[in-house]
Amino acid sequence: MLADSYGRIATDLRVSLTDRCNLRCAYCMPPEGLDWLPAPTLLTDDEVVRLARIGVERLGITEIRYTGGEPLLRRGLPGIVARTAELRPRPETSLTTNGIGLARLAGPLAEAGLDRINVSLDTLRPGVFRTLAKRDRLADVLAGLAAAAEAGLVPVKVNTVLMRGVNEDEAVPLLRFCLDHGYQLRFIEQMPLDAQHGWRRENMVTADEILAALSAELSLTPDDSRTRGSAPAETFLVDGGPARVGVIGSVTRPFCGACDRVRLTADGQVRNCLFARTESNLRDPMRAGASDEELAGIWRRAVAAKLPGHGINDPGFLQPARPMSAIGG
Ligand code: SAM
Repeated sequence: MLADSYGRIATDLRVSLTDRCNLRCAYCMPPEGLDWLPAPTLLTDDEVVRLARIGVERLGITEIRYTGGEPLLRRGLPGIVARTAELRPRPETSLTTNGIGLARLAGPLAEAGLDRINVSLDTLRPGVFRTLAKRDRLADVLAGLAAAAEAGLVPVKVNTVLMRGVNEDEAVPLLRFCLDHGYQLRFIEQMPLDAQHGWRRENMVTADEILAALSAELSLTPDDSRTRGSAPAETFLVDGGPARVGVIGSVTRPFCGACDRVRLTADGQVRNCLFARTESNLRDPMRAGASDEELAGIWRRAVAAKLPGHGINDPGFLQPARPMSAIGG
């Protein structure tokens, strides 16, 4: 098992397949992009699958989510998903994507064994999309969402980050859009993980503000908190249900005590927290011939050292050196 010294067990593995992205969302990446990780440092498809197998067979991982950067940019993605679905005990396999290219890939990914998908969508207005993501791709994202539903990757979940003065007025329209299409919407508070280090607490649209905006037009009833478990989203029934909306208050309502996640970067580093300031290298020992059990040992020690919380609200908080795109969101 991947246990830490605060009694938490990591069972949910987030694997970044690339640090590259075809959008430049302002809360994540500067318009000019970043210096991408050099190709030889990236795990190969076989290396990704080997580490996933070690996680599942030896360390109690039950869920694997592929992310990035933009995971649809990884050419071998359907093959990686198919090989992940063959692991035993079979992990639940999911993907977080910006949806660009999903219109073409949703079917092959579902056939490969993908169970669930989260698509990021921050606005329904093409002009705001261009301002926020620096690309004119809203239509592609909407087509990707529709294709995911068509391919049976349901329930399709939508992730939204609201930014002050950019799209903060879209909470209700986005929720109505998702309700109309049968997508499950979750708002995520903006976290200090952007490469530009531009995050300011006073600019963050908080969970309280989001809930107030939604409650002004819709009735929200807290869902049974006993069913929340380690899920980061607080969920609410909308207008009596059964439709729900989630709010992930990563900053103002931290849920670190229930965290069951561990992360693997595209260059093979284990991170025990999004905000960790240290990483444990699995890639180099693997390439030097380490056995499965030796790699599992490094991984166990990495998780054992997990801190009790992300520390964003502590006076001495320092943002991690890697931005979200290079960690895997
Ligand atoms: N490219 C994919 C996508 O857009 O979903 C996967 C990677 S992205 C880093 C994963 C999620 O992290 C997205 O939903 C994105 O909105 C969110 N994200 C990125 N930077 C963030 C930040 N600073 N605070 C909160 N969420 C962030």
